[in-house]
Amino acid sequence: MAGNTVPIILERLDTSSEGCWEWQGGVNSNGYGVVSLEGKMWYTHRLVWSVFIGPIPEGMFVRHRCDNKLCSKPSHLELGTPRDNRLDYTNRQLPKERARRAEEILELRRASTQGSK
Ligand SMILES: [Zn+2]
Repeated sequence: MAGNTVPIILERLDTSSEGCWEWQGGVNSNGYGVVSLEGKMWYTHRLVWSVFIGPIPEGMFVRHRCDNKLCSKPSHLELGTPRDNRLDYTNRQLPKERARRAEEILELRRASTQGSK
């Protein structure tokens, strides 16, 4: 992943909200936030997951707990299977701590960006 991915995410993700962090960039026809990186289109929530939380296992989906397709707040995301079973409960709970830390990092970054203006 390119080193400029995080700034690109921060630039277009509204992290000032207490609730959902909505993508301010492009949206695809299904209503999901998308961004082009290195010639590839990414769903923003999948990008945030893979950058801040970890690799998305083969065949797994990143879903929104909050049902807001534009949201890319780490703690609002969870891994799911196409079957949406509850057997992966452990897998989905594990990244919570990482999600919390990712949000701290993003909030710090935002604060420092605003301070330098
Ligand atoms: Zn949300």
